[in-house]
Amino acid sequence: MADDKKLTTRDADFSAWYNEVVLRSELADYSPVKGCMVIRPNGYGIWERMQRQLDDMFKATGHQNAYFPLLIPESFLHKEAQHVEGFAPEAAVVTHGGGKKLEEPLIIRPTSETIIYTMFAKWVQSYRDLPILMNQWANVVRWEMRTRLFLRTTEFLWQEGHTAHVSEAEAEEEARKMLGVYRDFMEGWVAMPVVTGRKTDSERFAGALRTYSCEAMMQDNKALQAGTSHNLGQNFAKAFDLKFQAENGATEHAWNTSWGVSTRMVGGLVMTHGDDTGLRVPPLLAPIELVIVPIYRTPDEQTLVLEAAERIRKSLGDWDRREPARLRIHVDTREGMKPGAKYYEWELRGVPLRLEIGPRDLASNQGVLVRRDTREKRPVSLGILGEEVSDTLSRMQRDMLAAALDRREANSVRARIDYGAFKELMEGKGGFVYAGWCGDAACEAQIKDETKATIRCLPDEEFQSATKPTECLKCGRPSTVEALWARAY
Ligand SMILES: [Zn+2]
Repeated sequence: MADDKKLTTRDADFSAWYNEVVLRSELADYSPVKGCMVIRPNGYGIWERMQRQLDDMFKATGHQNAYFPLLIPESFLHKEAQHVEGFAPEAAVVTHGGGKKLEEPLIIRPTSETIIYTMFAKWVQSYRDLPILMNQWANVVRWEMRTRLFLRTTEFLWQEGHTAHVSEAEAEEEARKMLGVYRDFMEGWVAMPVVTGRKTDSERFAGALRTYSCEAMMQDNKALQAGTSHNLGQNFAKAFDLKFQAENGATEHAWNTSWGVSTRMVGGLVMTHGDDTGLRVPPLLAPIELVIVPIYRTPDEQTLVLEAAERIRKSLGDWDRREPARLRIHVDTREGMKPGAKYYEWELRGVPLRLEIGPRDLASNQGVLVRRDTREKRPVSLGILGEEVSDTLSRMQRDMLAAALDRREANSVRARIDYGAFKELMEGKGGFVYAGWCGDAACEAQIKDETKATIRCLPDEEFQSATKPTECLKCGRPSTVEALWARAY
């Protein structure tokens, strides 16, 4: 149960605010195992809604779900040189099973390329067997030293898409397509605007040819990498002998992609929309869209008001309601708790809409509808409540995206900036800086050392500045590409 102590404000300490919101709105809790978290029903409900929608989107783009084992032979990890370098340091290794030392140690999957492409190799003979378009919903383990609830935990939930194609062009199209699916989801459902683009070589996925990412700006002006899509080239196909007979009879290696998003998005949702009162959940992802709080003093009033609340819940929220779509409604019938305390708790949990109904409201067949995002309060006739609620929820979904977009743009710098000013900005309020880059990894590394800012991505065309930067932010040599710089989670 939420206590009445006020939350730390975002301005005072963003990181403390984040932890308090996650814990007090009961999204997640720390577990007895260091670095692992327990996702509580309020948090899991959001994840479930994310999962459902993404799953529909994956299927609409031709993918099927499958499941591969949690345990992977350790030798698999060593077959792709860059991959082992990237993942071996954070692998959890199983050395004993059934009371005996294992002949070959097994690792708990940090990601599943190695085992999935081993199986693809078994299933693919001819170009006719391609493409393979698969997705897996799973947990993975990466031994993290510094963990944060949802943002970086040793075990987390995710989906990993894995595909195999006949050509590089097809793989590239797939990697880009899924980046687009992620962007649509993050903007349309999480109401979290993202900048898409390619990662530099130093930020690329271990073993990939090219990595693309979705980068969102949190309210502390730091970037959150919310999803990635990789064109793996033939690197894994060569390591795992994934070959096919081409149409012309020649034997060729397949081209792979992989792409993933995780429970990290829940953390992104909190840091994009939360306020000093708590969470604000975008309506489409809210496990409860409307909470009804009955107000009464006497037992007679209680009967009257609870009956009315139940009528509303049934008429708008029951399973058999077809038109318009069923709303996710909860009636807060808890006794011995003041309405104000209930408001406080539901606001902390971020439920998008609240309906307050008391005997006087009922006498005039109305209730008071309160928006969580703007706190706007207005009387609504119960006769048109369903339409009012649906309309308001759609408006909220759009308004939340617009507000997040305004905030991001207000904290983005596109004008020419000298390195001194850039350093100062990164040490101060931060933000997204679009600036020129000479393409030299040494400049990238120096900036990271000196400012903790990294190239989040080389933004896709639509995010690039109207006036192209002419020189590198660090060395002043001619710029070869525009880069998006920020400190990141
Ligand atoms: Zn440079």
